[in-house]
Amino acid sequence: MNHTIETRALGRTNIRVSRLCFGTLTIGPLQANLSVDEGASLIRSALQRGVNFIDTAELYGTYPYVREAISGICRSDVVIASRSYSYTYEDMQKSVNEALRAMNTDYLDLFMLHEQESALTLKGHKEAVRYLEDARKSGIIRAIGVSTHHVQCVKDAALIDEIDVIHPLLNHSGIGIADGTPEDMLKAIEFAYKQGKGIYAMKAIGGGALLKDVERALRFVIDQPFIHSVAVGIKTLDELEMDIAIFQGREFDESLRERTRHNKNLIIEPWCRGCGKCVERCSHGALRLVNGRSEVDNEKCVLCGYCQAVCPEVCMKVV
Ligand code: SF4
Ligand code: SF4
Repeated sequence: MNHTIETRALGRTNIRVSRLCFGTLTIGPLQANLSVDEGASLIRSALQRGVNFIDTAELYGTYPYVREAISGICRSDVVIASRSYSYTYEDMQKSVNEALRAMNTDYLDLFMLHEQESALTLKGHKEAVRYLEDARKSGIIRAIGVSTHHVQCVKDAALIDEIDVIHPLLNHSGIGIADGTPEDMLKAIEFAYKQGKGIYAMKAIGGGALLKDVERALRFVIDQPFIHSVAVGIKTLDELEMDIAIFQGREFDESLRERTRHNKNLIIEPWCRGCGKCVERCSHGALRLVNGRSEVDNEKCVLCGYCQAVCPEVCMKVV
């Protein structure tokens, strides 16, 4: 059996990516909070195993890990995607420059608008896109993308020429899809793919909620014909081994499965003072204030950890 990881061209871009993309959210300060050395070493292990695609974001705080992981490696052997919430020309320029500086690289393969919802929010970011187009022309970035949890956004972005790549949320249970079912999302993805967009999916295991049957969860997304790559959050060598085996269609040891079977949860510490910032931040409606404290609805929470980034009391964590 061939034990390499398949690669695909990311839509009409000239970028070739491994079907497994290393999602860095899980190693950084919003989740496992590994040391930079530990996180970078994990990314390096993935690169050595044939993964060439690394997904990060301004919000994640994981640029130092990527910087360390790619140091000394031929830059063209690695594909780096990042994103930010910037919506003005100047702020997007700052975001891209900061990403270049923090990861010590001359260019980024893909830079995206983070968490877009529809044509309306995309229109609101037109100045940011204008900067990204200038950056693409000058070779600072190779492709422009959007990340989204919304079916409508996938449909709308599919028709926008400036957008090269779409990074949609997809899993078999529909956890985290803001405005439809997995079938709706798949139809939108097929439409975008047919417009030539590169597609790499996120949250295939529902942020950890579908870990009980991780093979089924990952295979559901890997086997979709209109998805070029799948970003998977990885935080241990065992998870990396298991994910690689699943992507390669290999059997793996039952003990490996046991070691990685860990249900994640969002924990809100008792010192929450009920400021409500996390409730405002959660785009999944998974948080509400009850008796002066934030409370999570586990049915709605996709364990993205984004609420943590706004908590002034540092009392939220995904563990
Ligand atoms: S509650 Fe927090 S971790 Fe859960 S979906 Fe909302 S922002 Fe993400
Ligand atoms: S942001 Fe933090 S302190 Fe404020 S309500 Fe949420 S958990 Fe509590």
